[in-house]
Amino acid sequence: MIIDTHCHYNSEPLLSEIETHWKNSLSHGVVGGICIGTDINNSNIALQLAQKFSNMFATIAIHPEEYTEQINSILVGDSFTEETVQNILNTHTKEFEGLLNFALAQDNKKIVGIGEIGLDYYRLKVKGIKRNLVEHAQKQIFQNQLELAFQHTLPVILHVRDQADRTESNAYYDTFNIVSKITSQYQKEQRPIPAIILHCASGPKDYIQNFIDLGAYIGFAGNVTYANAPELRQIFEMTPKEKILLETDAPYLAPNEKKGQVCEPYFITETAKFLQDKFQINLDIILANTLKVFPEFQKVVQ
Ligand SMILES: [Zn+2]
Repeated sequence: MIIDTHCHYNSEPLLSEIETHWKNSLSHGVVGGICIGTDINNSNIALQLAQKFSNMFATIAIHPEEYTEQINSILVGDSFTEETVQNILNTHTKEFEGLLNFALAQDNKKIVGIGEIGLDYYRLKVKGIKRNLVEHAQKQIFQNQLELAFQHTLPVILHVRDQADRTESNAYYDTFNIVSKITSQYQKEQRPIPAIILHCASGPKDYIQNFIDLGAYIGFAGNVTYANAPELRQIFEMTPKEKILLETDAPYLAPNEKKGQVCEPYFITETAKFLQDKFQINLDIILANTLKVFPEFQKVVQ
């Protein structure tokens, strides 16, 4: 039995064929899935799909690239004002809080986390003061969603990406600093700490180790099977067995034999088989990890 902890059923090309994809997944031994939000609109769709399919749950989020693009576009030229950036942030924050309250108040509550949220400097085009502004904006909206996740003890699904060789203001370390700060604050106050998941893990080893030391879960997608991804397999090997989660990130990252194709959710079985063959991983442990983070699936596997 496999649970896909990260899939974009709420986006095309999966959304319009959702019935077929979901049926296909179920017939391949996938017993449940989490539909991941990246903006207000598709987070809303994720919640609707979770209402429709009993074994499907949802997360909601504003992804770092979502607002970065908007902010980047107003920073072109010299006529931007910090106020305009702040207005975008305020709007996003208000919309997100509204959606979260709506999700939490649903009779058949299906929200199981907040994500994918985080920092992504990978494609940042602006430089200098504008760049600082975009980074600041990313941090602000990330922190805001992170705080809400902690307040409601909802698992946090992190998206973090940067250029491998960036030394200053690196998204990986910036994310870790922000998460570790709120974690220690909650520890000090003896408040419950939600599960932290590094979705589709990548990045420097010491950053991954920092998150493992913090107790985070590490999500592995189809790219762990790629011939040119030995560093992802090293991350897999350094992750304690009880912290491993499986995901497709479909429609992205189809596993090696289907690389380049639209990733269909049932392809997760290929990733699982690869990890079984190469690392003798026991899928029961991964299922147990999944149930620990998302106990809502307990009734699905019974
Ligand atoms: Zn994703």
